[in-house]
Amino acid sequence: MEHLGRALCIITGASRGFGRAVAKEMARLVKPRSVFVLVARSGNELRALQTELAESDLEVRCVMADLSQMEALESVVRTAKEAFSGDIEHVILVNNAASLGDVSRFSKGFTNMAEVDSYLSLNITSALCLTASVLQAFPKQLGMRRCVVNISSLCAVKPFRSWVLYCTGKAARDMMFKVLAEEEPDLRVLNYAPGPLDTDMQLVARTKTGESSLRKAFSDMFDEGQLLTCEASCTKMMKLLLEDKYTSGDHVDFYDV
Ligand code: NDP
Repeated sequence: MEHLGRALCIITGASRGFGRAVAKEMARLVKPRSVFVLVARSGNELRALQTELAESDLEVRCVMADLSQMEALESVVRTAKEAFSGDIEHVILVNNAASLGDVSRFSKGFTNMAEVDSYLSLNITSALCLTASVLQAFPKQLGMRRCVVNISSLCAVKPFRSWVLYCTGKAARDMMFKVLAEEEPDLRVLNYAPGPLDTDMQLVARTKTGESSLRKAFSDMFDEGQLLTCEASCTKMMKLLLEDKYTSGDHVDFYDV
């Protein structure tokens, strides 16, 4: 396939970093009159991207909201339904928004249940509940493909010291989407680990990580120019989506493609 069809693309965390790159790249690969729903808290950044994308023949809507709140999920679904038209051939949800959590502390420092719950709420709960809401809003229908992408990480499969929240969240998300793939055989589910990206999240990783050897490793990667651009990683993800040959539910890493 050389395009993604007339699509409804819902992308969380589209205000910057990888999510923004995904929105821009997808916009090039969909048919005219496709619909984009861009979600994040930063309204100005979303609107700037909206203006950029709307120069192509696309309908672009912004949802400025905090995904850890239920109202945000409702707002995303309402916006997507309003913009949806009967000739949409492909519904694509990219669960990209995430936070790193406090990486300065080790596991034994996390005694506060409310803090941990709040992290898990954004990084696990909201991804499941948003995905479920979107699947209910756009049920299986003849002639319409549906695809859910989870932006994963090496941290879903490998433990890193002082990264307990992030590793736990990413591991849980992978499993969540693996279960979904088992349950919904008509749905395409991809867990994509994008590799080390030169974004705001990496800046926090190389400055705040409590485990000094890991902090140095991130710092060295940056100094030696080993971080990937969001665009390079995104190109590989799009290749996977266009070829559509991955096994639904699989964890696929940038370096595997
Ligand atoms: P950034 O921190 O640069 O961007 C995160 C995005 O998520 C922003 O658009 C932010 O928007 C949004 N976001 C964060 N919290 C919320 C919230 N509560 N509600 C709504 N939106 C929110 O991260 P990256 O671009 O680096 O990461 C993108 C994805 O890639 C993440 O899932 C990350 O875990 C994963 N990843 C990143 C790697 C890296 O090296 N950077 C490596 C492996 C995986 P706003 O602040 O406007 O709300």
